Amino acid sequence: MSVSATLVPSTFILHCSNHDRYSGYYAWRGILDFSGKENDDIILGIRQSYPDLADCLYFDLALATHCVLYELKGHRLNWLWYINGPEPERKESSLTVKVSDSMIETMHEEADKVWVPELARVMKETKEPFINIIYDSDPLPKLFRDNVVLVGDAAHPTTPHGLRSTNMSIQDAAVLGCCLKKWGLENLSSALEEYQSIRLPVISKQVLHARKLGRIKQGLALNCGRTFDPTTARQEECLQLQQRSMPYFEGVPITFDITLPSEQIGS
Ligand SMILES: Cc1cc2nc3c(=O)[nH]c(=O)nc-3n(C[C@H](O)[C@H](O)[C@H](O)COP(=O)(O)OP(=O)(O)OC[C@H]3O[C@@H](n4cnc5c(N)ncnc54)[C@H](O)[C@@H]3O)c2cc1C
Repeated sequence: MSVSATLVPSTFILHCSNHDRYSGYYAWRGILDFSGKENDDIILGIRQSYPDLADCLYFDLALATHCVLYELKGHRLNWLWYINGPEPERKESSLTVKVSDSMIETMHEEADKVWVPELARVMKETKEPFINIIYDSDPLPKLFRDNVVLVGDAAHPTTPHGLRSTNMSIQDAAVLGCCLKKWGLENLSSALEEYQSIRLPVISKQVLHARKLGRIKQGLALNCGRTFDPTTARQEECLQLQQRSMPYFEGVPITFDITLPSEQIGS
């Protein structure tokens, strides 16, 4: 999920002309709490339709839309349903949209048309569903300026389809820590240059790949002008959707060991 550019210092926004970019879709989402209802029809039904629910994250494709479904600890099901459309109105600082009863009713009617009955039922029985607007940002040309450096979502707001924004943030922090250790504070700009040279190519590709995954799954036009249709897609097109197609999925080439001794992590 992207953060708003409010986290990116305005000096960077001015310098880099960088803006949040609406993805072209928003997500209905909700959490169904089924504590004490483990053997109810609704739960047995959804487990039958999505048999690996406890062990994986499902994404389900329909025409020009997709949803994500997975189980959380504590007998809860988390679901998201991505809808193409104009950018919803929102308050400046929030990516969450307050929804009305009639919007929820329409969503329930649509769920019956798009999803298997078991999933539509989960959506309909979820209390207080809400909408998140999905943004990302074009990769920044720089990650630091003077002694201000960006890490995490502030450095690379991304759509959620790559499932790795937290990993990216942790790796930023680890690499930054190693660069600072290697160069020392007296050579701060060299440390920040090296951090940037390691992380910028990686995060840029990962953000753009997550963007592409979202567009594929939502049936939106890709750079080549084509759209993805799950009913006619060729196998090589489908393979792009695998998690391992993420650039640098197997790791990032770096010239030093980013494992810090535990006593340094604590200090
Ligand atoms: C609903 C949701 C679901 C997500 N699911 C996943 C997932 O499944 N997998 C995944 O990898 N990632 C997921 N993410 C993304 C993940 O949470 C972020 O990528 C990650 O938290 C980024 O870490 P960060 O430290 O850069 O930013 P954050 O975790 O956002 O931390 C920024 C911190 O800065 C603080 N802050 C903001 N402004 C100021 C200020 N002016 N002064 C002081 N402090 C300030 C904030 O309060 C916050 O504590 C999800 C995000 C959301 C919103």
